[in-house]
Amino acid sequence: MRLGVETPDLLVDVTGLPYDRVDALDDGGLRVGAGVQNSDLAADRRVRTSYPALAEAVLAGASGQLRNLATTGGNLLQRTRCAYFQDTTKPCNKREPGSGCPAREGEHRNLAVIGHSERCVATHPSDMAVALAAFDAIVRVVGPAGERGIPLVDFHRLPDDTPQFDTVLQRDELIVAVDVPALAFAGNSRYRKVRERASFSFALVSVAVALDVADGQVRDVRIAFGGLAHKPWRAYAAEQALRGSAADEESFGSAADAELAQAEPLRDNGYKVALARNTLVRTLVELTG
Ligand SMILES: Cc1cc2nc3c(=O)[nH]c(=O)nc-3n(C[C@H](O)[C@H](O)[C@H](O)COP(=O)(O)OP(=O)(O)OC[C@H]3O[C@@H](n4cnc5c(N)ncnc54)[C@H](O)[C@@H]3O)c2cc1C
Ligand code: SF4
Repeated sequence: MRLGVETPDLLVDVTGLPYDRVDALDDGGLRVGAGVQNSDLAADRRVRTSYPALAEAVLAGASGQLRNLATTGGNLLQRTRCAYFQDTTKPCNKREPGSGCPAREGEHRNLAVIGHSERCVATHPSDMAVALAAFDAIVRVVGPAGERGIPLVDFHRLPDDTPQFDTVLQRDELIVAVDVPALAFAGNSRYRKVRERASFSFALVSVAVALDVADGQVRDVRIAFGGLAHKPWRAYAAEQALRGSAADEESFGSAADAELAQAEPLRDNGYKVALARNTLVRTLVELTG
């Protein structure tokens, strides 16, 4: 709003709603209220021990002061940091549908390499959402038609012909919580974020990984990338390649290649493909111990 990107006629303050708790679910998972502040989520002992990648992802985002105000719902709905989107003197299909996408031929070093379209090549900025995608989280929303659950991996959209819509949330719906289901090996998880400076900065590439290894073989794994696409990118092809394979650097590299074969880098962001490969392999090696 300060940049003039949004000019709403009406603002509704949702900060007083009773969605500020992290509760245990019957299946052993957690229900994170939409109003839970990022700092409180990262500090929650259950999150730190059962889903360390989630705590690490939240702590990798923004700065301490921002995390003290930012909420679970707001973080999921933050908009792209594409420079043209934020500059109201420039055309941008996401801000003004049909006006064009100057980033395609212009400044796109930090933008998408997977799932982009002619209309938009932006990336989604949330770190927290990447870990939630790896953990199969469900976004719980309410609207006039009642309550529904949307898998986090389907909550954010690819741009296609309508990049103005970042998510499938309807205009009359409110996020009330995010459910993180139980996952036995989520305790062996990590979030690694590569960025241009160590203080607050958005991801060039990030990865959330949970790994289950027994007798030198991968029993199960969850992987999601950030910084590559218009949404958190769940790496199903890499996961499939890894299940049952040797837990070694060679298999890790092949799995990364299987996922990244679909990348279509733009003129100036091909470096992201190699960066994503190396970041995933290194994280898997670390989790293998
Ligand atoms: C300088 C800076 C650096 C940052 N760096 C990072 C980073 O590296 N990684 C990262 O992940 N994030 C980063 N952020 C984002 C930050 O962590 C916040 O999450 C983000 O700014 C959104 O703020 P908020 O959570 O207060 O949501 P708000 O600004 O309050 O809301 C954002 C949007 O969500 C809507 N909304 C809020 N709650 C609900 C709800 N319950 N239901 C429906 N709609 C809702 C609002 O209407 C609004 O449209 C950064 C922000 C800044 C300013
Ligand atoms: S990449 Fe998307 S957000 Fe950026 S200028 Fe193009 S349409 Fe706008």
